[in-house]
Amino acid sequence: MGQNIGTLIIFGASGDLTSRLLLPGLASLLGSSRGEELHLIGVDRGDVSDADWHATVTASFASESSALATKVAKNSRYLKADVTSKDDLARVLGEATGRVALYFALPPAVTILACTTLATMDLPKGVMFALEKPFGTDLASARKLNRLLETMLPEEQVFRVDHFLGKSTVLNLLGLRFANRIFEPLLSAPNVERVEIVFDETLGLENRAGYYDKAGALVDMIQSHLLLVLALTAMEPPASLDADDLRGAMAQVLRATRTQRKNGTSSRRARYGAGTINGRALPDYVDEEGVDPARGTETLAEVTLEIDNWRWAGVPFMLRSGKALGVGRQDVLVVFKEVPHLPTGLTGVAGPSCLRISIKPATLDLDLVINGQGDPFTLERSALHSDLGSGELSAYGEVLAGLLESDPTLSVRGDVAEECWRIVEPVLAAWRKDAVPFESYAAGSAGPTAWQ
Ligand code: NDP
Repeated sequence: MGQNIGTLIIFGASGDLTSRLLLPGLASLLGSSRGEELHLIGVDRGDVSDADWHATVTASFASESSALATKVAKNSRYLKADVTSKDDLARVLGEATGRVALYFALPPAVTILACTTLATMDLPKGVMFALEKPFGTDLASARKLNRLLETMLPEEQVFRVDHFLGKSTVLNLLGLRFANRIFEPLLSAPNVERVEIVFDETLGLENRAGYYDKAGALVDMIQSHLLLVLALTAMEPPASLDADDLRGAMAQVLRATRTQRKNGTSSRRARYGAGTINGRALPDYVDEEGVDPARGTETLAEVTLEIDNWRWAGVPFMLRSGKALGVGRQDVLVVFKEVPHLPTGLTGVAGPSCLRISIKPATLDLDLVINGQGDPFTLERSALHSDLGSGELSAYGEVLAGLLESDPTLSVRGDVAEECWRIVEPVLAAWRKDAVPFESYAAGSAGPTAWQ
């Protein structure tokens, strides 16, 4: 699309995302070889002095100081505005120079209201919209928001952000799968027993009740991040990594993905109670500040999916994410089938080989069964290990680079956002009807006892 962005306007500038992830990501980009000068404007509805805003930006930029980042921080401005007000938005847009990117770091419902107001206005030519996840609050609202955006600007100017697509380890899946002959032919139903995509954290709520208590583990992690990881793990090889080919391949595999049983009961959910993690005492989730127990929010969710295509028919894909667990595990695990016949006379370790692509830390492990060191007829397990590259930019830096360079490759395409909601919709419906038991686990444990 040519010309780079001249002004980046962040709506929700006083929020958690802006200071904790977005601004540090911008600093990492500005300090890299891809950094370009831009005018940064922070917008929120509170009274914030320019001095306070500069202090926020400078503190968030601190980890990656560079001459360009210092200049951008110094020239940045804060504007008080209600982003649902047409007059306020017109005033904010009037302050922009060059091509404009609007970053909606707002609660999802406020983003919808802001877009509805912007749809009644003349937008700056070539404007880019960056919309945070979750995109909409359910399938119907995601569809409605997409239809609204279609009336406002072309798809390539809409950047639906999911920072997992900016994680270099997630992108490593592409190199691993499509630049090696040894893995790709094996990744299919005749060879694979099951796939697990897991993002278990030792962190609890960490004062994020305002957002998390309305989302829960299923919407916060599985509906967006983990389904995109599934798409990259299971999609057909694209001809290129340009936006159309990559996102087309992701959309195709997600269209074929569904819950294991149509009624959504191939899922489990639980919530943590009081416990201790690494010596840190955590209260019961419902006693955390800002939590409304009536919402019945889960902090651990698991869904088993199947992909109805030639490659994957019948292979279960288990997606799980939880908070306050005793051990963090963030990886894609491919469990291969047992060999069709183990020659009689070979004994010892049985069981399948596994390929583990770990998101954090970024590593790859292929565990193999080999002949034993002592008795060669007794099998042993051995692991091939490799560290994976961490990339020059942080995940948010990578995503912002795509936005500011107007390259939608790492943006979630509109139909992909809708597919992700469509896949989890039967689970949400089953949970609303209480068709799935609501279990509990102690913080610091490995989850509900029955799950082990
Ligand atoms: P916060 O609630 O911390 O921040 C939102 C900000 O928007 C607040 O400062 C809020 O002001 C402001 N705001 C609300 N309504 C208006 C309005 N009408 N006009 C102007 N400003 C307004 O949310 P987060 O930063 O945590 O999250 C923002 C988005 O990013 C969400 O969609 C979330 O899902 C997503 N996200 C967040 C992550 C995180 O780690 N925080 C991670 C990934 C995605 P006020 O306080 O006065 O309401």
